[in-house]
Amino acid sequence: MVDSAFSVNVATIMHKPGTMRELELDVVVPERIGEGMLYFDRGAELEIDLRLETLVDGILATADVHGTLTGQCSRCLDDIAQEWDGHIAELYGYELDESIEYAITDDRIDLEGPIRDAVVLELPFQPLCAEDCYGLDPETGEKRTAPAAEPTPELDPRWAALEGLLSNNDGDALTDAAPETK
Ligand SMILES: [Zn+2]
Repeated sequence: MVDSAFSVNVATIMHKPGTMRELELDVVVPERIGEGMLYFDRGAELEIDLRLETLVDGILATADVHGTLTGQCSRCLDDIAQEWDGHIAELYGYELDESIEYAITDDRIDLEGPIRDAVVLELPFQPLCAEDCYGLDPETGEKRTAPAAEPTPELDPRWAALEGLLSNNDGDALTDAAPETK
């Protein structure tokens, strides 16, 4: 028995090749989809425009999926929300074989697996609250409102050595050298 918010009864179109059916589903996500910084949280709503076509081997489900991802900015950790549109296309077989990953079970297909896969594949790795988010100040932990100040460039050690030589020449080195010329 399939028990999923994403499960759809297809009994009326099974074994009738050429049959087509379109459905609009609103699904409340029962368990978080996606790991990492952005995800569909439990309770998020997904709009699914589903098209079912009966083929000889099974039922082809194609769908446009829309919802709002929530999570955190990868730089400043502020809460963010981002619209997401994805697409799935999956053949549900009457019987499983090597080329068919999902089967029709108890006259139902379950869209959760393909939707989960699509979400995980298309999530941004480093979501930002804004393109120019300046992140957190490492000292105060507060969100920066301006870019970090450019660090003072370290003096190249080779120049530092040269500088030492020059100051020697200006001072002791000259006076020490002077007696040797006599
Ligand atoms: Zn941010």
